[in-house]
Amino acid sequence: MPGSFHRVACPDCENEQIVFGKASTEVACAVCGHTLARPTGGKAEIEGEVLETVEHRSAGRDEPGKTVEAR
Ligand SMILES: [Zn+2]
Repeated sequence: MPGSFHRVACPDCENEQIVFGKASTEVACAVCGHTLARPTGGKAEIEGEVLETVEHRSAGRDEPGKTVEAR
C-alpha cells in the first residue's frame, strides 16, 4: 500500500483535518493544537476519531508534484 490519508476529527474542538497515514512528524490540530497523530516508525498512531480513510490512488492526474503535459 503506497499510503493513505485519514480524515480525523479532533477530540477537543471537532475540527476535521486530513492526516497522512504514515506521517513522520507529529500532526497537531490546526485550531487548538491537540496532537492528532504521532509517528511510530511505521504508520502513524491516530489520536482522534478517524471519520474516513482515503486510499492513495495513482491515477496519473490530480497528483501534486506531477505535471501532465499534452504533446
Ligand atoms: Zn482541535
